[in-house]
Amino acid sequence: MNVIFLGPPGSGKGTQAHKTSQDLGIPRLSTGDMLREHMKNDTPLGREARAFVEAGQLVPDGVVIGMIRERLAEPDCAQGVIFDGFPRTDAQAEALAKIVRIDRVLNLTIEDEAIVNRMKGRRVCPACGFTSHTSWLDGKEDCPKCGENLTIRKDDAPETVLERLKVYHAQTKPLIAYYQAQGLLESVDSGGDVADVEERVRKALR
Ligand code: ADP
Repeated sequence: MNVIFLGPPGSGKGTQAHKTSQDLGIPRLSTGDMLREHMKNDTPLGREARAFVEAGQLVPDGVVIGMIRERLAEPDCAQGVIFDGFPRTDAQAEALAKIVRIDRVLNLTIEDEAIVNRMKGRRVCPACGFTSHTSWLDGKEDCPKCGENLTIRKDDAPETVLERLKVYHAQTKPLIAYYQAQGLLESVDSGGDVADVEERVRKALR
Protein backbone atom coordinates (compact mmCIF):
# COMPACT_ATOMS: atom_id res chain seq x y z
CA MET A 1 0.00 0.00 0.00
CA ASN A 2 1.41 3.41 -0.99
CA VAL A 3 0.00 6.37 0.93
CA ILE A 4 0.72 10.08 0.50
CA PHE A 5 0.33 12.56 3.36
CA LEU A 6 -0.53 15.92 1.85
CA GLY A 7 -1.02 19.16 3.76
CA PRO A 8 0.51 22.52 4.60
CA PRO A 9 3.73 22.83 6.62
CA GLY A 10 2.93 22.33 10.29
CA SER A 11 -0.23 20.33 9.62
CA GLY A 12 1.23 17.38 11.49
CA LYS A 13 2.17 15.34 8.42
CA GLY A 14 5.41 14.14 9.94
CA THR A 15 3.84 13.07 13.25
CA GLN A 16 0.93 11.28 11.58
CA ALA A 17 3.03 9.72 8.83
CA HIS A 18 5.42 8.37 11.48
CA LYS A 19 2.57 6.76 13.44
CA THR A 20 0.99 5.30 10.30
CA SER A 21 4.34 3.91 9.21
CA GLN A 22 4.58 2.06 12.57
CA ASP A 23 0.96 0.85 12.37
CA LEU A 24 1.30 -0.48 8.82
CA GLY A 25 4.91 -1.67 9.17
CA ILE A 26 6.09 0.13 6.04
CA PRO A 27 8.75 2.87 5.82
CA ARG A 28 8.06 6.61 5.93
CA LEU A 29 9.83 8.57 3.21
CA SER A 30 10.18 12.20 4.29
CA THR A 31 11.92 14.40 1.75
CA GLY A 32 12.29 17.08 4.47
CA ASP A 33 14.17 14.64 6.75
CA MET A 34 16.28 13.36 3.86
CA LEU A 35 17.26 16.92 2.89
CA ARG A 36 18.09 17.84 6.50
CA GLU A 37 20.27 14.71 6.77
CA HIS A 38 22.16 15.74 3.61
CA MET A 39 22.54 19.27 5.00
CA LYS A 40 23.81 17.95 8.35
CA ASN A 41 26.37 15.76 6.59
CA ASP A 42 27.29 18.60 4.22
CA THR A 43 26.96 16.40 1.12
CA PRO A 44 26.94 18.03 -2.36
CA LEU A 45 23.14 17.54 -2.44
CA GLY A 46 22.86 19.12 1.02
CA ARG A 47 24.92 22.10 -0.08
CA GLU A 48 22.68 22.54 -3.13
CA ALA A 49 19.49 22.32 -1.04
CA ARG A 50 20.43 24.48 1.93
CA ALA A 51 19.70 27.94 0.50
CA PHE A 52 16.25 26.84 -0.72
CA VAL A 53 15.26 25.15 2.55
CA GLU A 54 16.44 28.02 4.72
CA ALA A 55 14.57 30.56 2.57
CA GLY A 56 11.35 28.53 2.80
CA GLN A 57 11.47 27.75 -0.93
CA LEU A 58 11.12 24.36 -2.57
CA VAL A 59 14.24 22.48 -3.56
CA PRO A 60 14.34 21.92 -7.37
CA ASP A 61 12.11 19.04 -8.54
CA GLY A 62 14.98 17.10 -10.14
CA VAL A 63 16.84 16.92 -6.83
CA VAL A 64 13.95 15.57 -4.74
CA ILE A 65 12.64 13.26 -7.47
CA GLY A 66 16.13 11.72 -7.80
CA MET A 67 16.31 11.27 -4.04
CA ILE A 68 12.90 9.53 -3.88
CA ARG A 69 13.63 7.36 -6.91
CA GLU A 70 16.82 6.08 -5.30
CA ARG A 71 15.13 5.42 -1.96
CA LEU A 72 12.22 3.54 -3.58
CA ALA A 73 14.67 1.12 -5.17
CA GLU A 74 15.72 -0.15 -1.72
CA PRO A 75 14.26 -3.53 -0.70
CA ASP A 76 12.35 -2.30 2.38
CA CYS A 77 10.08 -0.24 0.08
CA ALA A 78 8.77 -3.29 -1.79
CA GLN A 79 5.60 -3.65 0.32
CA GLY A 80 4.67 0.02 0.04
CA VAL A 81 5.65 3.28 1.70
CA ILE A 82 4.26 6.39 3.36
CA PHE A 83 5.21 9.58 1.52
CA ASP A 84 5.62 12.55 3.86
CA GLY A 85 6.17 15.93 2.21
CA PHE A 86 6.40 14.48 -1.30
CA PRO A 87 5.08 15.21 -3.89
CA ARG A 88 4.87 18.97 -3.47
CA THR A 89 4.54 20.11 -7.11
CA ASP A 90 2.72 18.91 -10.25
CA ALA A 91 6.01 17.78 -11.76
CA GLN A 92 6.81 15.68 -8.66
CA ALA A 93 3.34 14.07 -8.73
CA GLU A 94 3.68 13.24 -12.43
CA ALA A 95 7.13 11.74 -11.88
CA LEU A 96 5.90 9.67 -8.92
CA ALA A 97 2.96 8.31 -10.92
CA LYS A 98 5.48 6.81 -13.33
CA ILE A 99 7.34 4.99 -10.55
CA VAL A 100 4.64 3.57 -8.21
CA ARG A 101 0.89 3.17 -7.94
CA ILE A 102 -0.66 5.39 -5.27
CA ASP A 103 -3.48 3.83 -3.23
CA ARG A 104 -4.56 6.67 -0.98
CA VAL A 105 -3.85 10.37 -0.41
CA LEU A 106 -4.64 11.83 3.00
CA ASN A 107 -5.07 15.57 2.92
CA LEU A 108 -4.51 17.03 6.40
CA THR A 109 -6.48 20.23 6.75
CA ILE A 110 -5.78 23.05 9.20
CA GLU A 111 -6.13 26.85 9.36
CA ASP A 112 -3.08 28.96 8.52
CA GLU A 113 -3.37 30.66 11.92
CA ALA A 114 -3.06 27.39 13.82
CA ILE A 115 -0.06 26.47 11.68
CA VAL A 116 1.86 29.58 12.69
CA ASN A 117 1.24 28.80 16.38
CA ARG A 118 2.30 25.19 15.99
CA MET A 119 5.55 26.10 14.27
CA LYS A 120 6.39 28.83 16.78
CA GLY A 121 6.61 26.14 19.47
CA ARG A 122 8.12 23.32 17.42
CA ARG A 123 11.30 21.76 18.84
CA VAL A 124 13.32 19.04 17.15
CA CYS A 125 16.07 16.73 18.30
CA PRO A 126 19.16 17.07 16.07
CA ALA A 127 20.32 13.58 17.10
CA CYS A 128 17.28 11.29 16.82
CA GLY A 129 14.76 13.42 14.90
CA PHE A 130 12.15 13.46 17.70
CA THR A 131 9.72 16.35 17.12
CA SER A 132 7.73 18.04 19.85
CA HIS A 133 6.04 21.27 20.91
CA THR A 134 6.82 23.56 23.85
CA SER A 135 3.28 23.05 25.17
CA TRP A 136 4.03 19.34 25.71
CA LEU A 137 7.57 19.75 27.06
CA ASP A 138 6.87 21.34 30.49
CA GLY A 139 9.83 23.68 30.09
CA LYS A 140 12.22 20.79 29.38
CA GLU A 141 14.93 21.58 26.83
CA ASP A 142 16.34 18.07 26.32
CA CYS A 143 15.03 15.30 24.11
CA PRO A 144 12.84 12.91 26.15
CA LYS A 145 14.02 10.05 23.90
CA CYS A 146 17.80 10.48 23.79
CA GLY A 147 18.70 13.41 26.06
CA GLU A 148 20.22 15.66 23.35
CA ASN A 149 19.49 19.40 23.51
CA LEU A 150 16.34 20.17 21.47
CA THR A 151 16.68 22.82 18.77
CA ILE A 152 14.48 25.13 16.70
CA ARG A 153 14.50 24.41 12.97
CA LYS A 154 16.04 27.37 11.13
CA ASP A 155 13.14 27.41 8.66
CA ASP A 156 10.65 27.74 11.55
CA ALA A 157 11.59 31.42 11.93
CA PRO A 158 8.27 33.34 11.67
CA GLU A 159 9.07 35.10 8.38
CA THR A 160 10.21 31.82 6.80
CA VAL A 161 7.03 30.09 7.99
CA LEU A 162 4.96 32.73 6.14
CA GLU A 163 7.04 32.16 3.00
CA ARG A 164 6.56 28.37 3.27
CA LEU A 165 2.80 28.88 3.57
CA LYS A 166 2.83 31.08 0.47
CA VAL A 167 4.77 28.42 -1.42
CA TYR A 168 2.34 25.74 -0.20
CA HIS A 169 -0.70 27.67 -1.46
CA ALA A 170 0.89 28.41 -4.84
CA GLN A 171 2.63 25.12 -5.63
CA THR A 172 1.36 22.25 -3.49
CA LYS A 173 -2.32 23.00 -2.91
CA PRO A 174 -3.20 22.28 -6.58
CA LEU A 175 -2.31 18.63 -5.86
CA ILE A 176 -5.54 18.33 -3.84
CA ALA A 177 -7.58 18.67 -7.05
CA TYR A 178 -5.11 16.46 -8.94
CA TYR A 179 -5.62 13.52 -6.55
CA GLN A 180 -9.31 14.24 -6.05
CA ALA A 181 -9.82 13.83 -9.79
CA GLN A 182 -8.25 10.37 -9.50
CA GLY A 183 -10.62 9.42 -6.66
CA LEU A 184 -7.71 8.94 -4.23
CA LEU A 185 -8.22 11.84 -1.84
CA GLU A 186 -9.45 11.60 1.77
CA SER A 187 -9.54 14.80 3.82
CA VAL A 188 -8.64 14.56 7.49
CA ASP A 189 -9.21 17.38 9.98
CA SER A 190 -5.78 17.91 11.52
CA GLY A 191 -6.86 20.31 14.30
CA GLY A 192 -6.84 19.40 17.98
CA ASP A 193 -5.00 16.65 19.88
CA VAL A 194 -2.50 14.35 18.20
CA ALA A 195 -4.43 11.29 19.46
CA ASP A 196 -7.69 12.55 17.92
CA VAL A 197 -5.99 13.16 14.59
CA GLU A 198 -4.43 9.67 14.75
CA GLU A 199 -7.90 8.18 15.15
CA ARG A 200 -9.21 10.17 12.14
CA VAL A 201 -6.24 8.99 10.07
CA ARG A 202 -6.85 5.35 11.02
CA LYS A 203 -10.50 5.73 10.01
CA ALA A 204 -9.57 7.31 6.67
CA LEU A 205 -7.24 4.40 5.89
CA ARG A 206 -9.70 1.65 6.77
P1 ADP B 1 7.19 21.10 6.53
O1 ADP B 1 6.19 20.11 5.99
O2 ADP B 1 6.93 21.43 7.96
O3 ADP B 1 7.40 22.30 5.66
P2 ADP B 1 9.43 19.45 5.66
O4 ADP B 1 10.41 18.86 6.57
O5 ADP B 1 8.52 18.53 4.92
O6 ADP B 1 8.61 20.43 6.59
O7 ADP B 1 10.15 20.37 4.58
C1 ADP B 1 11.11 21.33 4.93
C2 ADP B 1 11.69 22.00 3.68
O8 ADP B 1 12.38 21.01 2.87
C3 ADP B 1 10.69 22.61 2.71
O9 ADP B 1 10.30 23.91 3.10
C4 ADP B 1 11.48 22.58 1.40
O10 ADP B 1 12.44 23.61 1.36
C5 ADP B 1 12.22 21.26 1.47
N1 ADP B 1 11.42 20.16 0.88
C6 ADP B 1 10.90 19.10 1.55
N2 ADP B 1 10.24 18.28 0.71
C7 ADP B 1 10.32 18.84 -0.53
C8 ADP B 1 9.82 18.50 -1.82
N3 ADP B 1 9.08 17.42 -2.00
N4 ADP B 1 10.11 19.33 -2.85
C9 ADP B 1 10.85 20.44 -2.68
N5 ADP B 1 11.34 20.81 -1.50
C10 ADP B 1 11.10 20.04 -0.42
